[in-house]
Amino acid sequence: MKIFCYGVIDIEEPYAQAWGKANNVEVGTTSEALTADTAKLAKGYDGVSSKGIAPVTEEAYATFEKFGIKQLAVRQVGVDNQDVAAASKHGITLTNVASYSPRAIAEMGVTQAMYLLRHIGEYQARMAAGNFTWDASMSSTEIFNCTVGLIGAGHIGGATAQIYSALGAKVLTYDPFYDAGLEPYTTYTDLETVLKESDIISLHTPLLPSTKNIIDAAALKKMKPNAILINMARGELVDTQALIDALKAKEIAGAGLDTLANEVGFFRLEKPYAETPKDFQELNAMPNVIVTPHVAFFTKLAVKNGLEIALNDAKDIIDGKKSRHAVN
Ligand code: NAD
Repeated sequence: MKIFCYGVIDIEEPYAQAWGKANNVEVGTTSEALTADTAKLAKGYDGVSSKGIAPVTEEAYATFEKFGIKQLAVRQVGVDNQDVAAASKHGITLTNVASYSPRAIAEMGVTQAMYLLRHIGEYQARMAAGNFTWDASMSSTEIFNCTVGLIGAGHIGGATAQIYSALGAKVLTYDPFYDAGLEPYTTYTDLETVLKESDIISLHTPLLPSTKNIIDAAALKKMKPNAILINMARGELVDTQALIDALKAKEIAGAGLDTLANEVGFFRLEKPYAETPKDFQELNAMPNVIVTPHVAFFTKLAVKNGLEIALNDAKDIIDGKKSRHAVN
């Protein structure tokens, strides 16, 4: 059996080869993303796997169908960059990895929140300018005196609730899906209450029509002036221009963003800074904002788990079995 993997990052390679050896499968890899053009690299393979956020269009699935390939195992949670209907049309079963290490993403969100809460970026900006003073605007709140509001509490939001709860924070959650297992760590409430009462607001929903721009100008106006917004989920959950306006107007205190609505085209690429989007540059220049290039997942455990779960799914489907991670 032969499986071809797209979007392979350097630390995945040894895990890919070790999995191939253990399962008697030849694993081919490329760092290139799956596109209509790179789909042809899978010629001669029995199955495929991809990782990345660039949109995958119908031509890629049609090429796989021509090669006799019946599945595409996505090595990540989100399938919003896939055209699920087009995949089905070409007989391609898509699988995702719904949970590879929710703690990886949860911990990055908490890390950014703590950094912002203690104004570390602002201290660093002052010190770089030879200013070693501080003032009332930079005083902090201890985390155990904070109210943290989660919007979405599935795998990652749930892990986030557990961490903040262990740190002594009061944790509120807005999620239309109630999970009794999270009761020890959080109190479920409505979106309005989360927006109005939270010192830290952390987004953990998928990108859906109901969640696109869930944080818009109106939502930002409801937040406390000391509120910190954390988005480790999908850039499109936030109206970026409204966020910039709210930060400039000091309607909220800061933002930690691992994902941006327009990140495809520069995240995971090398690009002259001047050619990056202006809204990114504006956010990145603010000492009370952290932007990271969609790396919240990037821990050794998460990468290994994601690769192994996806390739197990690919092998099962090639072997004619069903995968419980099928999304179509
Ligand atoms: P999940 O499916 O386990 O949980 C999502 C939760 O959101 C569910 O409980 C669902 O009921 C809830 N939800 C759906 N619609 C909602 C709405 N309108 N309002 C409030 N809650 C709503 O997903 P997950 O694995 O926890 O992933 C969460 C997000 O994190 C996704 O957007 C995913 O793509 C993203 N993610 C980012 C990274 C990264 O590296 N930054 C890595 C993995 C996942």
